[in-house]
Amino acid sequence: MPEPVIITFLGGLGEIGRNCAAIETKGRVVVLDCGQMFAGDDLPGVDAVLPDLDWLIHNADRVEAVIATHAHEDHIGALPYLLRHMSLPVYGSVFTLGMIEHKLREAGLNGRAVLHPISDGDRRKIGPFDCEFLPVTHSIPSGNITAFHTDQGVILHSSDFKLDLTPIDGRRTDLSRIGALAHDPGIRLMLADSTNADSPGASRSEKEIGGVLTALLRANDQRRVIVASFASHIHRLQQVADAALMTDRIVVPVGLSMRRNIKLARKVGILRIPDHALRDVEEVGDIDPRRLCIVCTGSQGEPRAALTQMARGESRWLKLGDNDTVVFSSHPIPGNETAVAAVRNGLARLGARVVHSGIVDVHTSGHGKQQELGTLHSVAVPEFFVPVHGEYAHLVAHRDLALEMGMDRDHVVVAEDGDQLELSDTGLEHLGSVGGDHLYVDGTVGDLGNEVLGDRRVLGADGFVAVIVHVDTERCELLAGPDVVSRGWVEHPALGAHETAVVDTVEAAVMKALDDRVADLARLSQIVRRSAGGIVAERTRRRPMIVPIVREG
Ligand SMILES: [Zn+2]
Ligand SMILES: [Zn+2]
Repeated sequence: MPEPVIITFLGGLGEIGRNCAAIETKGRVVVLDCGQMFAGDDLPGVDAVLPDLDWLIHNADRVEAVIATHAHEDHIGALPYLLRHMSLPVYGSVFTLGMIEHKLREAGLNGRAVLHPISDGDRRKIGPFDCEFLPVTHSIPSGNITAFHTDQGVILHSSDFKLDLTPIDGRRTDLSRIGALAHDPGIRLMLADSTNADSPGASRSEKEIGGVLTALLRANDQRRVIVASFASHIHRLQQVADAALMTDRIVVPVGLSMRRNIKLARKVGILRIPDHALRDVEEVGDIDPRRLCIVCTGSQGEPRAALTQMARGESRWLKLGDNDTVVFSSHPIPGNETAVAAVRNGLARLGARVVHSGIVDVHTSGHGKQQELGTLHSVAVPEFFVPVHGEYAHLVAHRDLALEMGMDRDHVVVAEDGDQLELSDTGLEHLGSVGGDHLYVDGTVGDLGNEVLGDRRVLGADGFVAVIVHVDTERCELLAGPDVVSRGWVEHPALGAHETAVVDTVEAAVMKALDDRVADLARLSQIVRRSAGGIVAERTRRRPMIVPIVREG
């Protein structure tokens, strides 16, 4: 009997970010992407959120390899954390591996992974799987769709995709091969990107942005122009460079990742900028500002990025003023809106003119919208379908689209992080859940959980009040205190009166307890917490963290 295939979703189903799935058959596992998610304001102090790597770590002896579909952070960002626990081969395109190599070198882990470059159309035996890699169009070059040829039929993973008929590099999503697979042997299960499943229509071609950028540079011919974009969006950078060349400007990349990626992309031949049109930022003072086209990071308001520094007036190289036009060639990723607004306000304060996608069409999405998703479904005609890569509402929207296109309700499964699905002769079944917890990074991984985060939220909202009491439990006597120490609760001079009230209330409560012969430190702590919490809430209508410290002697 053909062996079943089990898919364990370790992240990315229920959020945009930390994409990671384990695909296994015959007891061997291949990891499909290993991304991270950026932490929002609701996760104070958290640097990154990782997929539930614990499951992979527990099954380390069964893991064969990692396939990296493309080089976005939400697909490769957690690789260094995984490779700290196990040494694995990694498969990806030359560009994807170039980005991974840098990431591993930065983390001091370059010996931990043998990198296997794949080309479009390649078929590789990876563990028990026969994997076929197809080209896909997205907002980063050289991404791949993966078709797993298994005993249970073909499992097709769309990767992040759009259907751009005129991509910058001419490398279209390979619908014809998907169609051929659909015809023979048929696609048993499809996992497809749901990011834009609730957006009607189709995303515009990347190529349309070039004309808009050229017109913008022309319209600003008496000004210095700064274009902010993702450092990994090589096709956008190509169009900025082409527009600059056409309007007789020189491209100057600013920001570490921008400079590094341009170098890598030129090296592997996917970005064409002639040497004479490219200069280092160190030379920026020697060039007429009206001939400059600066490209930089910071379109998402990232705190350390080049544009953010410029907006704060802290850039070492560029001081912006009223002769500058700043183009945001991007959309803020959900969660980054406030940071982006702060950068825009900073730029406006300096006198710069700001252009963004709300004003002119200087951006298009890298994720297919409903018409594109529908096209993929109609070409692939999968027997089973699981929407992936999206918040829960996106997954549901993608399910509804599949149903609308005639798929059988029992053949579409909305799964969530941690869910384990089994594809066997009898169909696609939900086996259970392995957790799928968020793993937080704050300095080191794994020492930060929901309890600490809950405490941080309380501390951030209302501060803390610590009450210190010394008792003699044998004689049931109060020896010293209560003393009150607080931070972030109330301002002086009101603080004194509130603290006195806490002291009086806690003292009365502790004295009564000791009179009643309560001699247990844990019980006394509880009494201190309750009495202090009560009076604090009554007087100030706030709920700071109450920290009772009850000591013997
Ligand atoms: Zn992506
Ligand atoms: Zn993605």
